[in-house]
Amino acid sequence: MSRESRLASSPRARRTADRLGVRLEAISGSGPDGRIVEADVLEAPAAPARSGGPASPRARRAAARLKIDLKAIAGSGPNGRIVEADVLRAKATSAHATGTRSPLAGMRRTIAARLTESKQTIPHFYMKKTVRVRALLAFLAERKAMHPCTVNDLFLKAVAKAIREIPAFRTRIEGDEVVLFDEVNLGIAVGIEGGVVVPVLLHADLLPLPELALETKRLVGLARERRIENSGRGVFTLSNLGMFGVEEFTAIINPPESGILAIGAARDDAATGEKLLTLSLSCDHRVVDGMAAAQFLNRLAEIVEDPSSHLHELPAGAGISVVREKGEYDVVVVGSGPGGYIAALQAAELGARVAVIEKSPYVGGTCLNNGCIPSKALLASAEALHRIHSASDLGLRVPEGTVADWTAIQQRKDRILKNLRGGIGSLFQGRGITLLEGHGRLEGPGALSYESGGTRHSTTASAIILAPGSTPAMLQDLPTDDARVATTDAALHWTSLPKSLLIIGGGVIGVEFACMMQAFGMDVTIVEKLPRILPEIDADLASGMADILRKRGVKIHTGCGISDFQVSDEGCRATLPDGGKILAERTLVAVGRRPATSDLGIAAAGLQTERGFLRTGEDLAVAPGIFCVGDANGRCLLAHAASAQGRVAAHRALGHSMLLPKVIPSAVYTFPEIASVGLSGEQAKARGIQTVTGRFPLRNLGKAMATGETTGFVKVVREEKSNVLLGVHALGHTAIEFTTAALAMVGSRASAKDLAGLVFPHPSMSEAIAEAAEDSFSAALHLPPRGKAKPQGSG
Ligand code: FAD
Repeated sequence: MSRESRLASSPRARRTADRLGVRLEAISGSGPDGRIVEADVLEAPAAPARSGGPASPRARRAAARLKIDLKAIAGSGPNGRIVEADVLRAKATSAHATGTRSPLAGMRRTIAARLTESKQTIPHFYMKKTVRVRALLAFLAERKAMHPCTVNDLFLKAVAKAIREIPAFRTRIEGDEVVLFDEVNLGIAVGIEGGVVVPVLLHADLLPLPELALETKRLVGLARERRIENSGRGVFTLSNLGMFGVEEFTAIINPPESGILAIGAARDDAATGEKLLTLSLSCDHRVVDGMAAAQFLNRLAEIVEDPSSHLHELPAGAGISVVREKGEYDVVVVGSGPGGYIAALQAAELGARVAVIEKSPYVGGTCLNNGCIPSKALLASAEALHRIHSASDLGLRVPEGTVADWTAIQQRKDRILKNLRGGIGSLFQGRGITLLEGHGRLEGPGALSYESGGTRHSTTASAIILAPGSTPAMLQDLPTDDARVATTDAALHWTSLPKSLLIIGGGVIGVEFACMMQAFGMDVTIVEKLPRILPEIDADLASGMADILRKRGVKIHTGCGISDFQVSDEGCRATLPDGGKILAERTLVAVGRRPATSDLGIAAAGLQTERGFLRTGEDLAVAPGIFCVGDANGRCLLAHAASAQGRVAAHRALGHSMLLPKVIPSAVYTFPEIASVGLSGEQAKARGIQTVTGRFPLRNLGKAMATGETTGFVKVVREEKSNVLLGVHALGHTAIEFTTAALAMVGSRASAKDLAGLVFPHPSMSEAIAEAAEDSFSAALHLPPRGKAKPQGSG
């Protein structure tokens, strides 16, 4: 800087020029007499930075440490001097530019290739719509307890519904072809470490919302473990970044699909107070036009803005539109027992095309052919005989020598079975249900075969309801021959009666048989491995029945099995572990039931069993579109439970909601009968519920005395704290009928006080229920006083 310039500049200008490395000689001054002021310096063009110029000592040290070449750096200090900051900046930029390099491989390579292919080959166009989602959020909250599902599940369902209606979105280009799909298979974009994967939800339009939610959860869970199901089978994908607060974004189509929907976050609109959410649709213009896209977004908006109207599953019996695109039948049921035939009738009643595959020559399953009905027909004859033998108690003189005509009894039973089978046949006919005779097997999703006489046929169904029931369990080393050693399948149809019978198994079936056969004059022995007979029934009722049977001469051995068993011309000789011997003409093996699932093509459908049972949730689904009802799912091995499940499964198979009943009563058809509604005291205790039990003996009841049926009692179990009625249990004449009065009350968790307050006809056996309920408050008027009771109305 020349001395003249320095003089012709202000001190501030000089200082600033020194700091910035500006040469004053190069500036013309704007002050008085051309004096250079600070503003002139600041406005002067920056001196070009010099690379590799002089560096401060700190800069040199930093460069050495960070291995930065000072020659490559432009200094920002005075006169282009390189300062430490320049070195640090150079380091940061160079790291950014160089990065860590690795080959484009694995998932990243796939993503890169597919998205590049998508952008280069698919002519994308985009459309946006903002929807109101307050109703949708309320809809989700309402269903939370019963059928939890997410915003994403709801969008999947809504998109599936819209796509079902707008075929362009079920279309994709494959090579030179345009392919229109029947199925609405939806991809779900799932972000995982290192990328995005897209598992595909099959038949999203056919799945009721609860099943859709479960299946989506399963698919997403698997995807997070990098197990991607149904990849490549989608027609359209959903990508949701709403959970990250992203308001809106556009997505690239997952080729060769028709489009992708990008879902943003719900946000509050300050102006209107509405909750809004923006949907961005990307479409493949080769298959979707602007009008179809607009139609799609409008339909979607309609559904999500009013989900209760559009996604609500119709109540039972409401008119329905069954989706008929997929299978030959809407519903195929395997098995025609009480689970299967009721499911078929219900599905047909709801308007579906239904077929039932049955391998037995008879419809009706175990219940009609080898269970409930034949056993009750025989029990009816046995009970009548028992009453005749005790008729003198009623003042009747019955001629000596009333005996059972077993052939006539069997013929009567067979007539009843024939009638009922015919009844099911006509019900099927009346509702247009096709009966396919043969052994049914699953062959894959929606596909079945049935085989009879060596010929195999196949069929398809939109939904399958499995109701294969169960078969009698056998004992190892105790082969049945149906004559000497039999299960109930054969014993119910024996053509002659033995003089003595050993029953292995003291459960409900064994005890009913014991009661029946004893009445026919047989010498009966029960051997039960558990400590008591009827282990699944309330202990008081079971021991009451054991006493009754013993009094009639039935021998009962509990807590032991059979240690040796021989069959000879003489009969069956069993040895007990204590050395005791039992000799009986025949043996009935009644040791439980096994699910009939072993030859059902379970593996072909990718299903799993647990000890042979096809376990289900409350929705009775074992897989999307496949349901299991009745004995085979192990929930409750009773005919009426199977039928109740059949109704629910039929509704669900057709996309309607229906819940399983809360209370399933159980019954033992001995005389007197045993009936149980709700929880026993033992069961309640096992659930940690404090209970109070009321009890009323039938001998105190007018109707019981009048009919000469005073054996037995009624028990009422209530929760101690709340008084809620938990269960009603009875041993007594017509107990199965009179306890049904309590069904609705137990189901609705009514108060035991309400039951105590009911007025039953007098005289009737049902009066005992009210008395037992009163006794749970120590207030039964027909029992001796048990302390000072509170007035009925009090809390
Ligand atoms: P099931 O009635 O067993 O019917 C299944 C049907 O599926 C059968 O017809 C079978 O042939 C068919 N099937 C199986 N596999 C295939 C296949 N692969 N292809 C085609 N068809 C197939 N319950 C009560 O509630 N009350 C009672 O009083 C009573 N008494 C009983 C007495 C006895 C002696 C027995 C053994 C059972 C009794 N039960 C009673 C239980 C009741 O019978 C069952 O709970 C009920 O039958 C189960 O119904 P389900 O529809 O599940 O199966």
